[in-house]
Amino acid sequence: MSKTFAINAGSSSLKFQLYNMPEEEVIAKGLVERIGLNDGVFNIEYNDGEEFETTTNIPDHAKAVELLFDYLQEFNIIDDLNEIDGVGHRVVAGGEIFKESAVVTDEVIKQVDELGEFAPLHNPAEAVVMREFQKRVPNATMVAVFDTSFHTTMPEENYLYSLPYEYYEHFAARKYGAHGTSHNYVSRRAAEIVGKPIEDLKIITCHLGNGASITAVDGGKSVDTSMGFTPLAGVTMGTRTGDIDASLIPYLMEKLDIKDVKDMITIFNKKSGLLGISGVSSDMRDVEEAADEGNKRAQLALDIFVNRVQKYIGQYIAVMNGVDIIVFTAGIGENSARERRAILEGISWFGIELDEERNDTRKEAIITTDESKIMAINIPTNEEVEIAREVERLK
Ligand code: AMP
Repeated sequence: MSKTFAINAGSSSLKFQLYNMPEEEVIAKGLVERIGLNDGVFNIEYNDGEEFETTTNIPDHAKAVELLFDYLQEFNIIDDLNEIDGVGHRVVAGGEIFKESAVVTDEVIKQVDELGEFAPLHNPAEAVVMREFQKRVPNATMVAVFDTSFHTTMPEENYLYSLPYEYYEHFAARKYGAHGTSHNYVSRRAAEIVGKPIEDLKIITCHLGNGASITAVDGGKSVDTSMGFTPLAGVTMGTRTGDIDASLIPYLMEKLDIKDVKDMITIFNKKSGLLGISGVSSDMRDVEEAADEGNKRAQLALDIFVNRVQKYIGQYIAVMNGVDIIVFTAGIGENSARERRAILEGISWFGIELDEERNDTRKEAIITTDESKIMAINIPTNEEVEIAREVERLK
């Protein structure tokens, strides 16, 4: 039996999913949270409905991996570690080096670690996790799947900032984007749903989760995306600002008496977005609820979120000189009929006609009328299966 792990290590978390491949059957999945704290949480679901959770000291990612392997064996989810012949790791930053997924070698791990300059909270942790898996399943094919790879097809005019050109040449200062695995997966799925070759389609993919990004996919290739040098740019997110004027940085640092620019960036990353505007929560469900109860700032946060998504859709219609399909995915995109409606109704001039009944769904579905000039589709993303498929492809 061939088993493949899809691993998604964040700065303080590790998500895992274990598949039987090529059937794509999920055998176990779970999440380790609060890594680095002494009340870390380890959760695993297995055997179609059994679940185990424990709170324990998880000082680092190495311990998280150790717990994972201990419980896999304790719950008899796996008899023999040799059954695991594939491991796919999501990596946030691939820079300009990784234009596609790469089979992991010592050199690749070193490069992932060094790209920590672009994603200091993620890449070093991902490198640690890769080394831990190398120790435990040395014979498995390990593959690094980069969030940025899908966007390496962007043309220069879209990935370059209007900065002195040498900053790109010397320091690789440019737009890289993120969520590539998701944008890639849902755009190809959209083409399958409409039964047309992706080469013939212009698609705008809206990955709207706690982190959110929008991508223009022309003929199957990412030509522009809303996240930038880091995932801070683009639309309003749960806690991130999205686009702001860089001049606000010195201005606010002075007003707030902030000495270290990193502290300012932390505020832009962690205290802004829906949370910062509403003062209620970073979670869309909480913000919607507060708005319904009459909280004006919560309503304002919703309005700003919708407005930014609409602006990016408009931009990308211009970038591609047209669009055939708009895709919604991720937590908000997949689940919130209300936000999808607000976004699409406000840009109906382009020729988008929402079907209220079809939009009332959380499943894969076309949500526009048959007459609509532009089609909108709801597609639950599945980054994990995409990662497992990449391992299968490169085995
Ligand atoms: P993600 O990062 O993709 O897990 O998405 C998380 C976001 O999705 C959070 O802001 C959630 O509030 C939001 N979300 C999940 N379910 C719903 C729902 N039914 N309605 C509105 N937002 C939702």
